[in-house]
Amino acid sequence: MAEVIDLERRKSAERRRKRARARRMAQAVASALSCGMCPRRCAHCGLPIDEPGLVPGDAPYPMCSPCLAEYRAYKRREAGDSTREAYWHTEQWEQMWRTWLEAMRASEEFRRSPEFLRLMQEHLDED
Ligand SMILES: [Zn+2]
Repeated sequence: MAEVIDLERRKSAERRRKRARARRMAQAVASALSCGMCPRRCAHCGLPIDEPGLVPGDAPYPMCSPCLAEYRAYKRREAGDSTREAYWHTEQWEQMWRTWLEAMRASEEFRRSPEFLRLMQEHLDED
């Protein structure tokens, strides 16, 4: 009898460990995607924004003034303006902005997917 109880206890502990692991995984997925979602922090560099809530029409995400200026410079370059406004506005700089914007868009799409919503419902609503 004691062996049966011990086995049940071990199975129950294993189930709890599996649930905790799945919950940590879901939290990691969710927190990786929450970057750029806070209206009080710059989506690009993470620093606090002076005037939160005021996202200019041409900014896709909340940004601090320096990052917004950089984003606008990137958009001008993307539109064909070849003027180099700062010495660091190189090919790599352009690639950095291009891939960051793509990553932000991909994150938004994933956040809206049924699979992501299911993951959140299954593991984050347990409290
Ligand atoms: Zn910034």
